[in-house]
Amino acid sequence: MRTPIVAGNWKLNGTRASVRSLAQSILDGLSSVHADTQVVVCPSFVHLGDVAAVLDGTRVALGAQDAADQEQGAFTGEVAAAMLAEYGCRYAIVGHSERRHVYGESDAFSAAKFAAVRAAGLTPIYCVGETLEDRENGATHAVVERQLRAVEQHDGVAGLDEAVIAYEPVWAIGTGRTATPEQAQDVHRFIRETLRNGASVNILYGGSVKPDNAAALFAMPDIDGGLIGGASLQADDFLAICAATRSE
Ligand code: PEP
Repeated sequence: MRTPIVAGNWKLNGTRASVRSLAQSILDGLSSVHADTQVVVCPSFVHLGDVAAVLDGTRVALGAQDAADQEQGAFTGEVAAAMLAEYGCRYAIVGHSERRHVYGESDAFSAAKFAAVRAAGLTPIYCVGETLEDRENGATHAVVERQLRAVEQHDGVAGLDEAVIAYEPVWAIGTGRTATPEQAQDVHRFIRETLRNGASVNILYGGSVKPDNAAALFAMPDIDGGLIGGASLQADDFLAICAATRSE
């Protein structure tokens, strides 16, 4: 079922004290957010325990920013999805554009992570999106479809039924350049039509969402919420974005 979701991706930021304080400030302001909006925060791996302790028993869910493609074994530096589940994570971001484009992770590798996350009982927040060059070449839909099909090939078509999809045009992430609501809606509708059970899948928009543009994006019929980077590091901004989700 489609539900408004806003997830904060805290990336490589914070100290143990500052992430505890940020989580607490979000909790303190939560009354401004519709009760049916699922709020998620994704701190770095090493901060999960601190943030989990603050969020314990509240309506804010914990997510991780990534997960290993493997369950266990000799994979130095990796963190398995089951380990994240043990820390109380309900979500894990998979295939974020910084993983794909800064660290060179392929569609197939992202798909393997997706399957590992689902196997551990977590919900993947699976990121798809085109580069500026792709968009200028008219390849936006083809790129997004390729990224979705990679998961279907690895995990079967049913895998995406259970996921949250985040459409994040690479050219809009951290750049201050947001897709217009119409540009975002076009791709969201395409994703919904491409998925087997698209009518019931939550599809988030990500890419320089701020308090002043969130409502216009979230008002689009196929946008169910947002994946928020920079603006999720300020509790007031993040809460204002969460409060901009539709309530129905
Ligand atoms: C992101 O990293 O997922 C993101 C959307 O970042 P920002 O909001 O800073 O563009």
